[in-house]
Amino acid sequence: MLCPRCGRVGKVRYLRIDDTSRITASFHCHGCHLDVRGVPLYRYASPLQPGVDWFGASCAQGQRSCGYCGARGLTYCKRLDAGHGFVTRQVRVRCPGCRHESELTLSIVPMGDNEVGHEPATGMRLARSEPVMQGRSVWAYNAGHQAELTRYVAARLREGAVVANTGFVSRLPAWLKSARHRNKVLAALARIERRMPSNEE
Ligand SMILES: [Zn+2]
Ligand SMILES: [Zn+2]
Repeated sequence: MLCPRCGRVGKVRYLRIDDTSRITASFHCHGCHLDVRGVPLYRYASPLQPGVDWFGASCAQGQRSCGYCGARGLTYCKRLDAGHGFVTRQVRVRCPGCRHESELTLSIVPMGDNEVGHEPATGMRLARSEPVMQGRSVWAYNAGHQAELTRYVAARLREGAVVANTGFVSRLPAWLKSARHRNKVLAALARIERRMPSNEE
């Protein structure tokens, strides 16, 4: 992963939360000593709790009934890109029923943005992420994941190669599996490999 403060490459560790089956991540940067504790995985729809860090895209949202007419119409939702400096916790919204304005308290809700190469528990950018073409990037969590991805794409270059449609493969986007883009994908994977520090993990 890339440290969100100094940009150095570091490793995320996964751990259980208080003996439950829920998993979260921690990150320590050996460059600037930033310590990060991620959100419990797959709780993207829940507001960010105190004591956890999130560096990816999020949503500032709030919802409640109108205090004047009782309609359940007071809602607010604004997408915040990664790295935003969000400070506002209250907004004024107008009731679509009675037109009165009321204060609405906002929560910050993390959004899973795996499509664009972010680690799922911290939202940090993956060090192994590289553009393939306009609007498309290839990414991997670590060296092992990248090796598996490279083997899959390279195998499909050989005519008649049979590749099992495992869970890993079925989750890959169609453009990445398309024959038309194989060479570009392999070139991007090679660029990642060349620039990774040898002590990554
Ligand atoms: Zn750092
Ligand atoms: Zn109202």
